[in-house]
Amino acid sequence: HWSRICSRLQAEVGEVEYRTWLKQISIGPVDGDEITLNLPTRFLRDWVRTQYGDRLSALWNAELPSIRRVELQVGRAEPVADPADAGEGGGSADAAPVAAVDERVAEARSELSRHDLAAPLDPRFTFDTFVVGKPNEFAYACARRVAERPSSPGFNPLFLYGGVGLGKTHLMHAIGSELTRGGKVSVAYMSAEKFMYRFIAAIRSQSTMEFKEQLRSVDVLMIDDLQFLIGKDNTQEEFFHTFNALVDAGRQIVVSADKSPSDLSGLEDRLRTRLGCGMVADIHATTFELRISILESKAAASGVAVPAKVLEFLAHKITSNVRELEGALNRLIAHANLFGRPVTLEATQDVLHDILKAHDRRVTIEEIQRKVAEHWNIRLTDMSSARRARAVARPRQVAMYLAKQLTSRSLPEIGRKFGNRDHTTVMHAVARVTELMERDTAFAEDVELLRRMLES
Ligand code: ADP
Ligand code: MG
Repeated sequence: HWSRICSRLQAEVGEVEYRTWLKQISIGPVDGDEITLNLPTRFLRDWVRTQYGDRLSALWNAELPSIRRVELQVGRAEPVADPADAGEGGGSADAAPVAAVDERVAEARSELSRHDLAAPLDPRFTFDTFVVGKPNEFAYACARRVAERPSSPGFNPLFLYGGVGLGKTHLMHAIGSELTRGGKVSVAYMSAEKFMYRFIAAIRSQSTMEFKEQLRSVDVLMIDDLQFLIGKDNTQEEFFHTFNALVDAGRQIVVSADKSPSDLSGLEDRLRTRLGCGMVADIHATTFELRISILESKAAASGVAVPAKVLEFLAHKITSNVRELEGALNRLIAHANLFGRPVTLEATQDVLHDILKAHDRRVTIEEIQRKVAEHWNIRLTDMSSARRARAVARPRQVAMYLAKQLTSRSLPEIGRKFGNRDHTTVMHAVARVTELMERDTAFAEDVELLRRMLES
């Protein structure tokens, strides 16, 4: 029976897989409706159980209907000779090669656990430390969902995308930490770049089999910054196969990139298609409110009192990515700790002089006026005119607001550029626009759009 089952399996899975995994099975005793199969290590047992368990039961049952269950055990028990198969089927003649493969596998495994295959997870990047706001709430919810119930239909793969420094890596690590906490789930996280180097190294050392085995032995595979694989066709190909093998085996894949699957031109079509098959979640650019929340949370964690004014100032000045925002705050905090001085707005401008200069967008007030006038279809001269009709007054206020946000000009300087208006007029405009943006989402979107156009 066993030899017939073996030849079936061999035909089904191919010679290599058969020799690596299944040939190492030896038959144990039959007990009622259950047959015990032995494997030399726990890893092999788990692997065979997850990969071939159902198939083995089905084949045994087809051969011997009295057998309904297959029990996989760790052990090197002498095989109980199958009457039809004397001396075959993983007996002592195979002991040496088994040990060799076993060693290789054990090595591969320990490499995995030494984080050689995967990068270690950063303990700071957890769900708890991730600040949720409108721009990232969907991605956050998806990440949480995957961490709670990996491999759920509809969420596999999870594809996270968004600009630099918006929290993609943070969320991936959070998923990983959450899942590995119980100790039951094996997670491999690595950048696409690392994936490629590992793949190339494996080719060079003729160990692609081991590399594939390692990759395919994890429960959750997370590949960060997939856009790196654009133009790297062989690595893409390898990733595609790994991807399919894992998803088909019911494992979870999480991928991040800077663009949506459909916008990742340069990736193979079939890969893009599969990447878009699960859940695609984008992280949008931060809003002022989210930047404030993030700063507040990080300031609170640091234990240094940072005045709201300073946080607002930073959130206004550093808008492009959270990493830089965090970096600026950390520097302020380090300074405060080092010199034991309170954090003030003046100190901030001083300490962060270089960062702030780099973030002074070169956008000019004239540019802002032009874009805003175009957008609402008013004359450029109305930016400086005395007309108070709402149709021109409102765009003018938006332009002032954007000038305050996007340039480092002072209120009086801005006022002068708008037909010599007073700085209190600019102040009023900023307050008015902020208030309107909160009340009117369509208006807020208009302003955000203008800001993005001007920033890019
Ligand atoms: P990405 O991978 O998208 O380029 P990261 O995940 O590396 O961005 O985030 C950059 C930095 O900003 C990290 O230190 C991360 O902890 C922090 N960060 C990003 N978004 C948030 C957030 N919503 N809450 C807290 N920290 C965040
Ligand atoms: Mg990242």
